[in-house]
Amino acid sequence: MTCSGRETPNLRATQVEIYEGLRAESQNCWPSLRHDLGALADLAAPLLPAGQARYLMGVGTPEDIVECVGLGIDLFDCVMPTRCARNGLLFTNRGKVVIKNARYRNDQAPLDEACDCYTCRNFSRAYLRHLFIAREILALMLNTIHNVRFYLALMERIRTAIAGGAFEDFRQSFGQKQRDGDDGSIPEGRADENMNTEEEDET
Ligand SMILES: [Zn+2]
Repeated sequence: MTCSGRETPNLRATQVEIYEGLRAESQNCWPSLRHDLGALADLAAPLLPAGQARYLMGVGTPEDIVECVGLGIDLFDCVMPTRCARNGLLFTNRGKVVIKNARYRNDQAPLDEACDCYTCRNFSRAYLRHLFIAREILALMLNTIHNVRFYLALMERIRTAIAGGAFEDFRQSFGQKQRDGDDGSIPEGRADENMNTEEEDET
């Protein structure tokens, strides 16, 4: 006997099959549910074994990661840096950059002066914006290189701050800088739905 359900139809009686439409209903109502990530992490972290790594799946923005580290979380994994990169939302030490915004049309500065990634060392914001508006696949590659490096560097800085007993100062200063960035929402759709060649955001 296997559990694939092919040989034993009764084993296919999952919740979805018992409650017709449950999956679709859950998908529809989930975005409307409001949940306090900090409260959930604060609730769960003390319940986990002391002395072992604490893993939080699906989190999150840079600010979320810093806050959750403060609540005792050690490990994360999330599509956030790569999905956002493919949609032109870039994380920097000065907050979010929505690279298609018109303000970057002639901006010759690196995406993030404080970043040592290949993208920031070799290309300007104006060039990255051009690539994105032109729907060049290179835009997604360069954006992804930066966002992944930003997240790795963020974790390095967090570890340094913790080791130096300065995490709380880091948390506060990081949060303040992040609030200075562009007002870009976290994308949900596919990259090609957001690589806009018709309308350029003039903000
Ligand atoms: Zn970079």
